[in-house]
Amino acid sequence: MDTRSFKTASLLVIVSLPLISKTFAVDTFDPATGILSVPRVVVGDWRLTWGAQEYTEIKLTVDEVVSVGQTTLLDETDLTIRPDTFDTSLNQLLMPQVIVGSDVYTDVVITIGELISFTGTITEVGSPAYSQARSLQPFYYSYSDDVPQNLRELWEIGIEAAAKYFGRYGPLELWMQGAGEEGLTSHIAKFCDRRKVIGMNVFEPDMPYMTLERCMLIFKSYFQTVQQKNANFQFGAGVQGDALRGYHLMTSAIPGYFGKEYVHQDRAFIGPFHEYYHVMQRAHISNLDLDGRMALKGPTWFVEGVAGALADYAVMDMQSNGTLPLLDGRAYDFFDHQAQHLDLARHQWQSLDDPKLGLTSEEIGPTFYSNSFAAWLLLSRTKVNILETTFYPNLMKKGWEQTFVDTFGMSSEDFYLLFADYMTKEPEEQLAIMPGWDALSRSEKDYYLSRF
Ligand SMILES: [Zn+2]
Repeated sequence: MDTRSFKTASLLVIVSLPLISKTFAVDTFDPATGILSVPRVVVGDWRLTWGAQEYTEIKLTVDEVVSVGQTTLLDETDLTIRPDTFDTSLNQLLMPQVIVGSDVYTDVVITIGELISFTGTITEVGSPAYSQARSLQPFYYSYSDDVPQNLRELWEIGIEAAAKYFGRYGPLELWMQGAGEEGLTSHIAKFCDRRKVIGMNVFEPDMPYMTLERCMLIFKSYFQTVQQKNANFQFGAGVQGDALRGYHLMTSAIPGYFGKEYVHQDRAFIGPFHEYYHVMQRAHISNLDLDGRMALKGPTWFVEGVAGALADYAVMDMQSNGTLPLLDGRAYDFFDHQAQHLDLARHQWQSLDDPKLGLTSEEIGPTFYSNSFAAWLLLSRTKVNILETTFYPNLMKKGWEQTFVDTFGMSSEDFYLLFADYMTKEPEEQLAIMPGWDALSRSEKDYYLSRF
């Protein structure tokens, strides 16, 4: 069968069986024939920063099943449009979902048997890091010599846990500085050396990425800024992304989260979770044009609000189901933290003549604490994991505003009116939009409300 008649044939099948259109974007396995149908797969070497291609419409057989996640019923499962991953260096195929009869298997990893047919298209997508497809590779961690061992371990536990929760995207590198000047230069030299090893330029891998001198110069000031901030107790970490060079760059410095200088020990995991959330967001934007990337990311209140809200939620969720350790022997108190932030958000909002959510990073200061409540108000209209499962996978195809409308059922302009109204309500009504609030006892609710 040639390509055209295959397409005509599949079109006829879709028209006659409406069920197929629901399942069209997801892998299906037919146990009777042993054939796996893959609608969309990103093929590449996930250790590298360039050279990924997207293939559509492939049929193949399975050699070995390496691992399987959850199984759910097809009728009860939201199907994803996320592409599969084929990592050529591992020779493994990762399927976010595969339909087998009336079941859906999640996160299935296999090795491929035989290629039966390829009737689709091939598209260059640049780096695996920004292809929407997940990674099966380990992350890369580097610390300057004076970063203590226990801190390294906690950061890695945090990032690995966040990747389990939000999906694993890579190549990802964490570069953490000590507090001193001494280790900085040798650490940046190591950083610039590594750029030569894993890849230089997304689209022109043979072009020199930059001279060692230039790399040292650019990243010295960048690493120093992070170091300086932490030295001033503005604890944080940053995701610089380095999208044009095709990987996810995360940087931080000590003192910081997990150190004795950080007063909120019980919530220190929020640091790596928040930054990792930004990695997930960026992993869904393959556009290399800077303005195009900015437009796809959406307004800053949104980027920061959802990262803030979901990092908090994920840490609470994972600690309560035992998949993330407690710090200092104490569980992170999600509602206490939200109540404190809501109190700050209310004060900020009420102190302004014409309060607005910040559209740019320059604008977010005055209503900073409102961002995550805007995110909660959006998520309360749908599912708490809708961004990772549906919103971000649709972003490149539909653009930010259309994805927003389709996900939350209203335009962003209408949402700003809804949010302004929300900010006039009493704290109890405001907290009631949070997942899990309804399940609290009266005395627990009263305790959190006493925070205002
Ligand atoms: Zn952030």
